[in-house]
Amino acid sequence: MNSREQIKNAKRIVVKVGTSTLLYPSGKINLYRIEHLTRELADLASQGREIILVTSGAIGVGMVRMGLAKRPDSVQEKQALASVGQVLLMHLYDKFFTEYGQIAGQVLLTKENFSNHSQYINGRNTVLTMLKKGIIPVINENDAVTTAEVKIGDNDTLSATVAAMVDADGLIILSDIDGVYDANPQKNPEARLLSEIPEITQAVEKMAGGAGSAVGTGGMATKIEAAKIATAAGVTMFIASGGSDGTLRRIMQGETVGTVFPPKDAHLRVRKGWLAFGRRISGVIFVDSGCVKALKTGSSILAAGILASEGEYRAGSTVRVLTADYQEIARGTINYDAELIEKIKGKKTSDFTELVTGTLHEEVIHRDNMVLMI
Ligand code: GLU
Repeated sequence: MNSREQIKNAKRIVVKVGTSTLLYPSGKINLYRIEHLTRELADLASQGREIILVTSGAIGVGMVRMGLAKRPDSVQEKQALASVGQVLLMHLYDKFFTEYGQIAGQVLLTKENFSNHSQYINGRNTVLTMLKKGIIPVINENDAVTTAEVKIGDNDTLSATVAAMVDADGLIILSDIDGVYDANPQKNPEARLLSEIPEITQAVEKMAGGAGSAVGTGGMATKIEAAKIATAAGVTMFIASGGSDGTLRRIMQGETVGTVFPPKDAHLRVRKGWLAFGRRISGVIFVDSGCVKALKTGSSILAAGILASEGEYRAGSTVRVLTADYQEIARGTINYDAELIEKIKGKKTSDFTELVTGTLHEEVIHRDNMVLMI
């Protein structure tokens, strides 16, 4: 069964909506769109599906409320606007959901909630409890209090992280473009909408975000990043237009709408999802091709395969594992501090035992504490 057929049976769906869908180009609130979105979500919930809405728009709606035409530059002012806009946004969702017989609840998250294992589990349990009680979680980043270090940054990433956190079956990102094109549709009349992207290759990434990007203007790069997170966690992801009626219903009926990213075969376990995407990345290690080959056959990472390392990480930190040409192949918990890795990289375990003062680990990153991204 293909991904579009499979989604018909999906039980748990995350839907992400962006500011450009919620507001008119003039900056005013698009009540028609918010009402129709809410109605479609309510209807999906009535079909017995569990719905989670990840919404942007706090800052944009705050600007409307405060009568501002221009987005302020200062972070504090934006945060103050988010505090006002978030309330109005929730008021609108609550009003429409209530009219359509549903109960919504607000969850505001920061990166910290994903990087701390107990907060992560707690957040997951809260959202799952809401779903069990028939409440529709409406999630945004906690913009009013986040600082740069604890910011997830964009709601595409947030929605994929949430989808991974709750083991969603599907993630639908509603955008101002109706999917991923093979060229810039504004410049090239021959540009084709890609109905399915079976694998996120370097060519796909380049298409989405590289210099002179085909469709980069609509924030496609963060959507492709989101697709990596979602599909690696076993979630089927869609990018479709938020600007037309019936999109969600049509996707859920298996119709060919937007672009679908089928999930990676192996469903990652909850802890692995947390490990790969929630925790703050403290460093990077570069590994050789032999190590990459070994990883594909289920091995751990040994010091012998490490070419170089960057960052001030400590034993227990999460690091990215890259090839020499910067392709991310894994993330995991490293067993040694950065200083020690500098000394032992490229060496066999038997050649560095005397350099290790604490516990000796044969593996620099053990297989069980690592998520493969390839
Ligand atoms: N959290 C931001 C807001 O609600 C939006 C971030 C995004 O659009 O990706 O205004």
